[in-house]
Amino acid sequence: MKFVIVGAGLVGASLAVALSADGHECVLYDRFDLVEAALQANGRPVTVSFGDVGGHVMIQTNGLRILKRMGVLQQVLDAGLISPTVCTSKMDGTKPLRVNMFVEGEDEDIKNPVQILRSLLHNILMRACDSSGVRCFTGKKLVSFTQSADAVECKFEDGSVAHGDFLVGADGVHSATRKLLFGPDLNAEFTGVVGYLGCVDLKMNYLDVDHPTTFHVDRLAKREVVMFRVSQDKLAWRVTEYAEPDKEATDSWRAYSNLPKESERLANMVEQWGLPQKYVECVRKSNRITPVTIYDLPDIPKFCEGRVFLIGDAAHGMRPNFGQGLSLGLEDVGTLRELFKKFPAPTDYAKVLDLYEKTRVPRTHNIAGRSRGMAATVYSDSAFGANLNHFKTRLFYLGINAGIVPHPNMYNYEDSLAAAVKEL
Ligand SMILES: Cc1cc2nc3c(=O)[nH]c(=O)nc-3n(C[C@H](O)[C@H](O)[C@H](O)COP(=O)(O)OP(=O)(O)OC[C@H]3O[C@@H](n4cnc5c(N)ncnc54)[C@H](O)[C@@H]3O)c2cc1C
Repeated sequence: MKFVIVGAGLVGASLAVALSADGHECVLYDRFDLVEAALQANGRPVTVSFGDVGGHVMIQTNGLRILKRMGVLQQVLDAGLISPTVCTSKMDGTKPLRVNMFVEGEDEDIKNPVQILRSLLHNILMRACDSSGVRCFTGKKLVSFTQSADAVECKFEDGSVAHGDFLVGADGVHSATRKLLFGPDLNAEFTGVVGYLGCVDLKMNYLDVDHPTTFHVDRLAKREVVMFRVSQDKLAWRVTEYAEPDKEATDSWRAYSNLPKESERLANMVEQWGLPQKYVECVRKSNRITPVTIYDLPDIPKFCEGRVFLIGDAAHGMRPNFGQGLSLGLEDVGTLRELFKKFPAPTDYAKVLDLYEKTRVPRTHNIAGRSRGMAATVYSDSAFGANLNHFKTRLFYLGINAGIVPHPNMYNYEDSLAAAVKEL
């Protein structure tokens, strides 16, 4: 089977690796334009990785399971840092609480979440694509497609076309594939939250932090600063607040061009917020800062139509509060791989996509809903509400620590798929 995959981000690239391992032909098309990136860089070094956004990503047990099946887990573990717990506190570091993020009873290598730079993860996936013979074309922005009973044809902005048996929309939260498939009004909504993602070399700057992952929250002021150690030497951070989107923030996540100005501005800002000084210095000494705008895709009831299907953020882009967006995209990948393996006959493809939808739609809607609920407790408009939310969040975390509240990372896509197939 030939899959035209639009979007060579983390999820599109993962799908290409997973399906090509089973003998399918996968070709990636991404709108990212290397020439444009070189021009924008204005003489500065250009990173050819479109996953390089200065930020990090946490991959939890449910997502690591798929990376293990794809054969890239060890590289990911080597490039990142495990963080069995996260520490949450008030903005100034008081009232700390450690929350368990490991899954008891899981295989040792996937039991703990991994914190990793997006750029490194993307490089691992693109290298795996390369060694599996997956071609990736850049400068290919999808503008339209047509489909018949047994084939798809995609058109790109530069006038070129691609043909395949399936079109996979892995083109992110503002997916063109989704809008072309189900209607132009299926837009992701701006949440009111904007963020800044940064990265700092701890060793080079003589900095240190106590815990791999720390959340600093000011509910009343609606501000959050999170520090993620991604290796022995490197720390990634995320600052979020309610504000108007930054004019330099694009949905392709480009870094600020004037780093000294922005690092100084943001360091002064978080210092005023009351962040402990050692973390303020991490922001000040950043080597890359990217402004981002946080979106939420309203739940869409269908992920497939005919020979076109959506995966990752294109299907279920959500608020990042649970740190589950990528892991859910990886679950999509694992599910599709298993389904195409289990039902290889062309006459069974409708069954594959039906089972994909039956398992993935409820699962992803559930986590998107929980992420919205979680986001609602991070902020409050009154001092009373802020204290109440602080109390509710602590209760929730204590429930997780005690094993009473199930965490999304305990999900195993293989069990869910086996149950759905049994029901056939
Ligand atoms: C601030 C923040 C923090 C997050 N932290 C975490 C975390 O810790 N853990 C976690 O699991 N998730 C996290 N997420 C979510 C996670 O980043 C996403 O779920 C994940 O990146 C989705 O990957 P994707 O490949 O589906 O989409 P993307 O990474 O958005 O990739 C889409 C690709 O499609 C391309 N594209 C777009 N339009 C077109 C077009 N018309 N034609 C061709 N190509 C196109 C783009 O260039 C891009 O390369 C976070 C999200 C945010 C915003």
